Amino acid sequence: MNSNQMVRSGVEVVDPLSASWAEQIRVEHLTKHFHSEDPPAVDDLSFSLHAGEILALLGPSGCGKTTTLRMIAGFELPNAGRIHLHGRDVTDLSPQQRKIGIVFQDYALFPHMTVEQNVSFAMRHLPKAKRPAKAVEWLALMGLSTLTTRYPHELSGGQQQRVALARTLAAEPDLVLLDEPFSNLDASLRESTRNEMRHLFKQAGTTVILVTHDQAEALTFADKVGVMSAGKLVQLDTPQMVYQYPSNAFVARFLGHTNLISGEAEDGKVKTPLGELVVADGVAGEVRLSLRPEDLFLTQSMDGKGAKVVGREFRGHDYFYILEQDGAQYCVITPSHHCFDIGSRVNISVLRTGAVLPD
Ligand code: ADP
Ligand code: MG
Repeated sequence: MNSNQMVRSGVEVVDPLSASWAEQIRVEHLTKHFHSEDPPAVDDLSFSLHAGEILALLGPSGCGKTTTLRMIAGFELPNAGRIHLHGRDVTDLSPQQRKIGIVFQDYALFPHMTVEQNVSFAMRHLPKAKRPAKAVEWLALMGLSTLTTRYPHELSGGQQQRVALARTLAAEPDLVLLDEPFSNLDASLRESTRNEMRHLFKQAGTTVILVTHDQAEALTFADKVGVMSAGKLVQLDTPQMVYQYPSNAFVARFLGHTNLISGEAEDGKVKTPLGELVVADGVAGEVRLSLRPEDLFLTQSMDGKGAKVVGREFRGHDYFYILEQDGAQYCVITPSHHCFDIGSRVNISVLRTGAVLPD
């Protein structure tokens, strides 16, 4: 029992006043300037994670994701800010002293070693004699039991990726950092590998930071999504909240298609080109709302008025429509049996309360 836990009436409880219980990582005001004349690559970034949480840092190429990971791992020194692991300030420690496991996009396995030897190599914390048996255990966990004696060139991309992950986990790190680890895999393998990995991390209670530019990957893999833009953390929340309640237009657009609609709010209602919409009480004045394509609903217009269908894409499980009304364009997703012809007229209705963008 640690100092933050107390025993009351025989029941073990965690002291709610202690902010740092089971806190695995805390990053405070992390900043990196490569060149003084350029804007910072990472700009005043702060967040914390509890043990076992999975965070995805999501943002476009060049927004500072890899630099953030490299600073956490200790390969890059920050110009300002601190990094705490398990409540210990590790900012000035070497990568080896941090007990962090990393899988980069171009995971390099040793080509002259078998799968088992690659994994054993990572277990320098164990006596040599114990390593092969333990390596086989990690490989079994990753579904690689039948491949232990193969060499990397005898494996598929997905299998190599899992060996790289087994090797990282075999070192029993306190924190795992993943930099676009699925981007070399083809689409179907990417989805299954990512699901398996999430399951494994959750089972093992591993704390993970995943870096990606793929919004679907971030939303499905992580417990929390941190959206980055130009070195800054713009929003940090659950996948559901960043998708449905984006904090600005950049986040709204980066997480998928959206309709940004302006209107004048009064008494919990907003007058918009799509009619009067309900918003939270207390919202007043000029506002912008984000409505996802699946938040809108289409019905055939009976009077030849309404929005005109100008684009339509059949995607198997749904239709993606582009509509025009009073000079504005809207995107709408409908079930694939809701079929409206190009050039026909439809009425757009709104299925949910509009999410007001705070800025
Ligand atoms: P991301 O991983 O989100 O694509 P990076 O962290 O790799 O972004 O890069 C963020 C910014 O920092 C980019 O503008 C990039 O050019 C710059 N940068 C990254 N590494 C270096 C470096 N070693 N020297 C100079 N500039 C760098
Ligand atoms: Mg990168």
